[in-house]
Amino acid sequence: MPEGPSILIIKEQLAPVMTGKKITTATGNAKIDFQLLFNKKVKSVNSWGKHLLIMLPNLTVRVHFLMFGSWSMNEQTKTNRSLRLKLSFQKKEIYFYTCSIRLLEGDINDLYDWEADVLSDKWNPGKARKKIKEFPNSMLCDILLDQEIFSGVGNIIKNEVLFRTKLHPEALVKNIPPRKLTSLIKEARNYSFDFLKWKKEFTLKAHWLVHTKKNCPVCKSTLLKTYPGKTKRRAFFCKHCQLKYNK
Ligand SMILES: [Zn+2]
Repeated sequence: MPEGPSILIIKEQLAPVMTGKKITTATGNAKIDFQLLFNKKVKSVNSWGKHLLIMLPNLTVRVHFLMFGSWSMNEQTKTNRSLRLKLSFQKKEIYFYTCSIRLLEGDINDLYDWEADVLSDKWNPGKARKKIKEFPNSMLCDILLDQEIFSGVGNIIKNEVLFRTKLHPEALVKNIPPRKLTSLIKEARNYSFDFLKWKKEFTLKAHWLVHTKKNCPVCKSTLLKTYPGKTKRRAFFCKHCQLKYNK
């Protein structure tokens, strides 16, 4: 599943193409009223975590890429994939495949908490801390994947942030020393920006320290691969270097 930084890259590619342009036709197999998009001018293109948002007057097209979503410009490159939405402009055509498409009505600011997006200028670490404290018995692996707290963080970021901060995926919020919680929140944002930079350089995988790896880069012992917590997403971690802080 594309994580927040990958969506931000798509946003950066699409914003200059779409902004200020009028939609001439909208088609596809998404279950939306395509008529609502006809002749509408794109105000801006934004992202919130894993959501790509195409903003029209009083209406927003929300694209969620799910597990295998993708897009292309000017050419329907993926003819074997389900074409959910095709947006035509005077000179360009944008295709979205195998994603979830929804139309959101009304003011987007009422629907999205921009302060929860780890890549946003409006990111608010104090607010994240407050939200985390509401779940004392939750595991950190679940907390990091909670899009209401860390919008944009996905499984790779989760694994790498837990390793950077030397925290065990199954550590419970209530047991974490305050300074460790501070660094967890800080690194969720820092690592997301590193991810963004490395993804643009095509060097993301080369920078993984634990995700899909066999051995701990610090103590060399074998990493554990488990599916912890409620989210049950693949975790790679070192049981010697990453602590649970069990009382
Ligand atoms: Zn280790």
